[in-house]
Amino acid sequence: MPFTPLHMGPALVIKAAGGRHFSVLVFGIAQVAMDIEPLLGIIRGWPVLHGWTHTYLGATLIGIAVFLLAPPLCQWLLRHWNRELEYHRLHWLRSREPITRSAAAAGAFIGTYSHVLFDGIMHADLLPLRPWSADHVLLGLLSIDALYWACLGSGVLGVAIWLALGYAHQKR
Ligand SMILES: [Zn+2]
Repeated sequence: MPFTPLHMGPALVIKAAGGRHFSVLVFGIAQVAMDIEPLLGIIRGWPVLHGWTHTYLGATLIGIAVFLLAPPLCQWLLRHWNRELEYHRLHWLRSREPITRSAAAAGAFIGTYSHVLFDGIMHADLLPLRPWSADHVLLGLLSIDALYWACLGSGVLGVAIWLALGYAHQKR
């Protein structure tokens, strides 16, 4: 996907369903980590933008790195986020839970594997099963328009559920 934030749409729905068992912050860091290779490729003019990082093998390695390295950074971001919300009197939107190891693992691996899935649907230079197969097994599974709308729609739905849950929690 050319625009990394679009990957966040489905994550917001998973967060709404999974709650404390899924870290949306770790998921977000996984998206950024996955797109370092294409970003360098754009800057340096590489012929293939979606190389080894955009395979299921690469996604597994990046998922492990994100699982190990991202949680301390996410805890720091979360503390900062909660402080900002409190300052703006939006404490009902605070995230109260710590990031558990299982939530970090879910964020990291759902993050990197779904990234290969979505990018694989739209990028012809992506070979998800390398080095075992050079088939474009994901290419064209969905039209690009349908993929964009699914990501945008799920993002809007996820934010709506998040706001509703925060509001309901405050009422209790
Ligand atoms: Zn990508």
